Amino acid sequence: MSEPLLEVKSLKKYFPVKKGLMGRTVGYVKAVDDINITLYPGETFGLVGESGSGKSTVGRTILRLHDKTAGEIRFQGKDLYALSPQELRQLRPKMQLIFQDPYSSLNPRIRVGDAIGEALLDHQLVPKEKIREVVTEVLTSCGLSAYHYDRFPHEFSGGQRQRIGIARALALNPELIIADEPVSALDVSIQAQIINLFKKLQLSRGLTYLFISHDLSVVEHLCDRIGVMYLGSMVEMGTRDDLFLRPLHPYTKALLSAVPIPIPKLKRERIVLKGDIPSPMNPPSGCKFHTRCPFAVERCSSEIPLFREVEQGHHVACHLV
Ligand code: SF4
Repeated sequence: MSEPLLEVKSLKKYFPVKKGLMGRTVGYVKAVDDINITLYPGETFGLVGESGSGKSTVGRTILRLHDKTAGEIRFQGKDLYALSPQELRQLRPKMQLIFQDPYSSLNPRIRVGDAIGEALLDHQLVPKEKIREVVTEVLTSCGLSAYHYDRFPHEFSGGQRQRIGIARALALNPELIIADEPVSALDVSIQAQIINLFKKLQLSRGLTYLFISHDLSVVEHLCDRIGVMYLGSMVEMGTRDDLFLRPLHPYTKALLSAVPIPIPKLKRERIVLKGDIPSPMNPPSGCKFHTRCPFAVERCSSEIPLFREVEQGHHVACHLV
């Protein structure tokens, strides 16, 4: 197997909770609590979980948009947190983020082509006279047209805006793309088009994706391996077949039970979880899922289950597995 492109080891990200006039720290929101992920070149890893599970914080901490609390993040073997600002700046184009709502990150007064070209100029990746040519090429590879270069963001539909978001990331010729809920705001038919675009670009450019989504059905179509997060912790991780054909953790089973199956005869029994996800500031003791787990036994509220490999490449954290 090739060398990993990205290694995330024992990553923790705690946000301090401050109170009072003096801004005293009264606690911590444990958004990410001891996460390990390894990504190999050319693969797509899906990170799923409900809102508040910490999956977006993982992506942002990898890109150093948040500072880590503990752990290690290596990209192409380099410790990202040991790099100087200059070294980090040189590495930045190789790791790009695609947002759920690209519109919010586009200046409404700047033409789309210029907005994409700005980053190229900023990183001195292309001479000024070549910008239009390079941006046009990347726009067309994302299913847009050359004339879109001179259009303003408000002139595009939701699906086209997401194509612009992808084009802007691709223009920098990245190796890793972290896509945070990139299709969640789109209609189902447009979602399929964007997912196909992600696949096509991966084949033609050898990209590696960390694909963050709350929607398992989206992840199913794109990802080689999937990690399921709950309240800052990874509860199950495996190949797409491990998770979709042999899910082991009760939380994964509950998420899967909500995914519609196209063949009515294979109807899954819906598992409805009690209540909402608890506060990450005060997570339940033992297994964090025990307050909502339909299979919880006595030890679940006091003993933290180990995240262990139960078959090759398939990891799960549950006392009953
Ligand atoms: Fe449920 Fe217990 Fe397993 Fe946690 S350890 S998922 S509470 S059965």
